Parts: sequence; C-alpha cells; structure tokens
Amino acid sequence: MTPTSDVALQSARILNTNPATGDTLSEHPCASSEDVQDAVARARAAQARWAATPIRVRADIVLRFQRLLNLERQRIAATITSEAGKPLTEALLTEVMVVLDAARFCAANAFRVLRTEQVPHANPVLKTKRGYLVHEPLGVIGIISPWNYPFSIPATETLSALVLGNTVVLKPSELTPLSALAMRDLLHQAGVPRDVFQVVLGLGETGAALAASRIDKLIFTGSVATGKRVGQSAAARLLPVVLELGGKDPLLVLSDAPLDTASSAAVWGSLMNAGQTCLSVERCYVHSSLHDRFVAACAEKISRLTVGNGTDPRTEIGPLISPRQLEIVESQVNEAVAEGATLVCGGQRLPSLGPNFYAPTLLTGLTHQMRIMREETFGPVLCVMPFASDDQAVALANDSDFGLAASVFTADSARGEAIARRLQAGTVMANDVITCFAVAEAPHGGVKASGLGRTHGLYGMREMLRTKYIDVDLMPRMKKTWWFGYGVEFSRQMDNFIDLLFGNSAVARLRGGLRSASSLWRKRL
Ligand code: NDP
Repeated sequence: MTPTSDVALQSARILNTNPATGDTLSEHPCASSEDVQDAVARARAAQARWAATPIRVRADIVLRFQRLLNLERQRIAATITSEAGKPLTEALLTEVMVVLDAARFCAANAFRVLRTEQVPHANPVLKTKRGYLVHEPLGVIGIISPWNYPFSIPATETLSALVLGNTVVLKPSELTPLSALAMRDLLHQAGVPRDVFQVVLGLGETGAALAASRIDKLIFTGSVATGKRVGQSAAARLLPVVLELGGKDPLLVLSDAPLDTASSAAVWGSLMNAGQTCLSVERCYVHSSLHDRFVAACAEKISRLTVGNGTDPRTEIGPLISPRQLEIVESQVNEAVAEGATLVCGGQRLPSLGPNFYAPTLLTGLTHQMRIMREETFGPVLCVMPFASDDQAVALANDSDFGLAASVFTADSARGEAIARRLQAGTVMANDVITCFAVAEAPHGGVKASGLGRTHGLYGMREMLRTKYIDVDLMPRMKKTWWFGYGVEFSRQMDNFIDLLFGNSAVARLRGGLRSASSLWRKRL
C-alpha cells in the first residue's frame, strides 16, 4: 500500500491506475464527511498560530519548498506522468517549473499584498479622520482540484494561500492522488506544520463534504457541471468561491499570420497533454486565404508526432486519462463526421499502445451547430474553420458559452491587440497559446461559463485575503456636525454645504461655504 491520506480510514476506496498501461498504481481509503470535518477543525485550530508566524518565515518556508522541489523534480515529474499520462517533458515544464516560479512569486509578493494601505480622504469634513486598509488571511481555504494538472493547479493555489497565513485542506481528483501526496510531503519537509496543509483523498462525495465544511473560502477547479453544483451549495451559505472551470478556447489566425508558426502553435495548443488542458485550443479559425495551406501544414506536423507512454522522452502525446474521457472524445468526433465534418487525420483509438490512446485528430468542414464546436472536448483534436474577415472571426470566437482564454496570430501586433480587446475571455494571447498559465505574475480565470474569480498573480493572492477598512477619527472629543440636533436651520446649512462641495460654479461654492460655516458651532445632541 502507498501513502494514505491525512485522515482516518473508512471503507470506500479509490483505485489509482496508470492511464498508459491500465496498471494499478495505488489504492487509498476515502475520507468520510467526518474525516473532512476533523481535518478542517485541525486546520482552523492551527490557523491563528500560522497567521502569527512572521511573513518572512512563511516566505522562507515557501522558498525551502521550492528548493526541495527543484532537487526532487525528476521524481515528482515521474509521479505525475505515471498517474496523469502526460509526457515527462510536459510534467517538468507545465507542472514542476510552473510551481517553482509560482513559489518565487508568492514568496516575493507576500509582504506587498499584506501591506497596510492608507486611504486618503478628499472630503474636507472627513479630514479629521485617518483611514487605512488591513489585509488579513481568510482562515481555512478548501481547495478542490482536477486531474489534468494534478500538481501545478493545487500547488500554485496552495502556495499563495499558505504564504499569506491561511491553512489549507486539499481534495485532489480521485484519479491523481499521488501528485497531491508528493506535494504534501515536500511542504511538510519544508517546514509547513502538518495541520496547516492537509490532503483528504476520496471521490466526489469527499469534495462535496469539503465544500460543505466550515471552510472560509473554496477554490474549485474542474468542470462546469460540478462547478455549478459546488457554486450553488456555496451560495446557500454565502461561502465565497473561486470557480476555475472549463474552456472552449479559440485561436484566430489572421490573414497576415506567419503560417508555419501559427500552424505549429495550433498543433501544440490543441494536442499537448493530449488536449486535456483547460486552455487547449479547441476551436481554430483561419482566414480563408490561408485555410487550405494551414490545414495541410497541420496535417503534416501531426503525422510527425510521437504517440506513446509518457515515460519515454520521445513521446509527445500520451494517453487520455480514462476510458470515460476516451468515449467523450470519440463520440464528439464521430458525431461531427456523421454530420458532415471532414476527418483529415486521426479519428481512431490506438489500442496497440495501451487502453486509453487516441490518435491526434484534425477535423475541417465544421459548423457551430456541431457539439464538437460547442462543448469542451478535452482530447487530442484540432478543429479548423475558415473565416472571411476579422469581424467574422471575432463573432465566431465569441459565439461560445465559455470564455477562459483566446489567442490571435498576426504579423501586426497592433492588430492583434485590437482584436484581443474584442474577445470575450479572461486572457487573450497574441502570437502564443496556453503559455499564459506559466506567467506567475498573470491572473488566471475566465468569464461566462468558464468561472468566477482569479488564481495566480497578485489578483490570485488577493482572493486569499479579506480586506478590512479601519477608520480612526483623530478628534475624539469632537461631536460630529452631522449628528442629531437637526432642524430647519441645520437643514438649510447642509443644503449650502452641498453647494460648497459640489456647486456648479466658484460663486455657488463660495456662497455655500459662507452660509454653511455656522453649522460648525451649532448645538448637537
Ligand atoms: P470534475 O468537475 O469532474 O472534478 C473536479 C474536482 O471536483 C475533482 O477533485 C472531483 O473529484 C471533485 N468533485 C466531483 N464531484 C464533486 C462534488 N459534487 N462536490 C465537490 N467536488 C466534486 O473535473 P475534472 O477533474 O474532470 O477536470 C477537468 C475539468 O476541469 C475540465 O472541464 C477542465 O476544463 C477544467 N479545468 C479548468 C481549469 C481552469 O483553470 N479554469 C484548469 C484545469 C481544468 P473526483 O475526481 O474524485 O471525482
């Protein structure tokens, strides 16, 4: 048996399998609702002390975690590949390296986001006051994370929560428990107390129990369907949530785009991690003058990809995560072809490689009525559609329930930036795809059905804080002019006072000042 979760055992278990081979990797007991509540209670008990730990000490622990991760990076990447199937190179770059850089960012910015901020008052009657904002950790943060980035998603969220003085209870996907446990062990080794970061393993019910527990905020990353359920139950008790949900990201290839670069971007953006990335290029719109050459270039590049077990360093496309995911992808492709789409390449399982392999696929002849252009596919499929004008490209890109990220390729960066402003998405990249996730400084999150709130960057850190305004009147013996003791005269004075502040002319303001001045000496209750 492999490492267990932090919580007591109970009868239900999860079976963790290698998606490339179908072999069992580990088996774990599921945390019950009581186990989750116990973990949250321990996290709450530990939180005050952790919040009182100097920021410098917490930042140093995060940096120690970074150093340990760097030393252990090959082992961690191998763990990720074994249970998520992605090529080792991607495990290193998109998981380990992203977290190394997030640790740097969180440690460097903890002081900055926790710093007290002055709130200067412009209103002359409020000049006796001094106002400022203090930013406090929320308390216990619950994190529920998916299987497709089983290390970088929970780790980036956890580091920003911890460095700011929160404690964390993490429920990872049942499909990828080992990556979460490896992260937990490194955090504890770095000096994070056991109750300050805990992992509860289990199925969806364990996640639901965490969402229903006495946490102070929930950071949920997953599908729209689960996100809606989680959001509804959180709303019933006014639990704040961040929802990082699915995407159907468009890539626009404008008429002046460099075809070789844009086609490489489309192939990588749609097929890396076997297309199982929330930021995957799921819809590619290409100017009609380039369309046929673009499709030919993509087909040729796809034919050169190596599909196989992610542990082989030559592998570029690994397996899908599960038979269920394979069925979703297959059914969307088959349905599109039955409705008239053209299968340029791929479109079939590769059982000789293992149980969950699907050939990288290129489809053209698509319409927005097809399910594959509307629902998240989450598989190694590149869907290409032509457009005639920039306006039509923007309209097609925005014709989606989702709005996570988008990309535009053009030789003219001003044109790309102008298009970027018109696209409905949380992030728009000009001349790149997916990479925004690796920018530790950039906020990550979507609009429309892609979710609420942000992770990453300063905005992501601020999601882990509550802001309190403190207002100090520096004249403790002075009764305020506006307190009780109203009357006709006071009403007239206040009318004039409004003229003093907002009168439409200098004369009106001067007159208002003179007529309201006597209110300063009026008798108050
Ligand atoms: P799911 O929504 O199926 O699961 C996400 C997490 O929620 C898992 O840990 C899951 O546990 C848990 N869960 C399941 N049911 C419940 C419940 N009722 N209450 C609380 N938690 C529950 O998503 P996937 O794991 O399949 O992840 C893929 C999805 O995540 C895609 O849609 C993808 O686009 C999205 N995603 C979004 C990202 C973003 O940043 N916007 C980033 C990465 C992925 P279990 O696995 O044990 O069922």
